Amino acid sequence: MHRKQPRLRTLENYALFLDIDGTLADIAPEPSLAFVAPSTVSDLKALSISLNGALALVSGRQLAEIDKLVGLAGIPAAGIHGAQLRTQAGTRLAQDQLPEVFVQIETEVRNLLRGLEGITVERKPLAVAVHFRANPKFESHIQEIASSVVSKRNGLKLIKGKCIAEILPDSVNKGNAIAELMQSLPFRGRVPVFAGDDVTDEDGFTSVNSMKGVSIKIGNGPSNAVYGFKTAEKFRAWLSQLLCGGAEGTQF
Ligand SMILES: [Mg+2]
Repeated sequence: MHRKQPRLRTLENYALFLDIDGTLADIAPEPSLAFVAPSTVSDLKALSISLNGALALVSGRQLAEIDKLVGLAGIPAAGIHGAQLRTQAGTRLAQDQLPEVFVQIETEVRNLLRGLEGITVERKPLAVAVHFRANPKFESHIQEIASSVVSKRNGLKLIKGKCIAEILPDSVNKGNAIAELMQSLPFRGRVPVFAGDDVTDEDGFTSVNSMKGVSIKIGNGPSNAVYGFKTAEKFRAWLSQLLCGGAEGTQF
C-alpha cells in the first residue's frame, strides 16, 4: 500500500515521537547489533533543540538500552512499549504488575524453550521477550508457548513483532505512552507526530490519529497510519530535511 509523505510546515507546533529499531536504526540480525548512525543522532539532537525538547523515543527496548543505543541520555523516552516512561519530571515504571511475575515467566519460558538454537530470551523489568531472528522457523512454536504462558495468568498479553514475541502487562502499549507524554511539557498543546515500522506501533498510530496528529508507517503492509515511507532510510532523510525548514511531501 502506498502512503503519502507528510509535510510539516513549522516545527514549533509539533511533538515528535520516534520508534528506534526499523525506524531510526535498521533492523539487525540480533538486537545487540543494531546501531543508530552518528548522522541520525546529530539530527535528533538538533531536532530536539528546534522542538524545544518535544522529541521522545518510543521503543520496546529498556530505557538503559535506548540511552546506550542513541547516546542522548535524559531525552524523553518510553521504554518497553511504555512500561517505562521518562519525562522532564522524572522516570516512572508502570505499577500495575509486579516485576516478580516476570521473573517467574522468564523461568517458565526458558524451560519451555530449552534446546532451541538461535533464540534469545530477554527479561525486562515488566516484560519477557523471545527473539528469534536467527531462526525464524521457530516462530509458530515460540508463539504457541508464549500464548500458553500468557493464558495462565490475568492481566498479561502477548505481542508479536518482527521476529520477536513479547509478554507484557495488558495496559502497556505505545499509544498510551504517547498519550501520557502528550500530557506533560514540553509536549502538551503540540501536534503529535509518530513514526514506527512494526505491529507494536499500531497502537501509537491510532492514538496519534485520535489526537489529530500525524501517523507515519515505515514499510508497506496494512496499517492504521495515514502517512508512510517505503524504507527507514527514506524516513531518516525526511527527518534530516525537517531541519532545513520543512520536508518535501504532502502538505499537512
Ligand atoms: Mg520498530
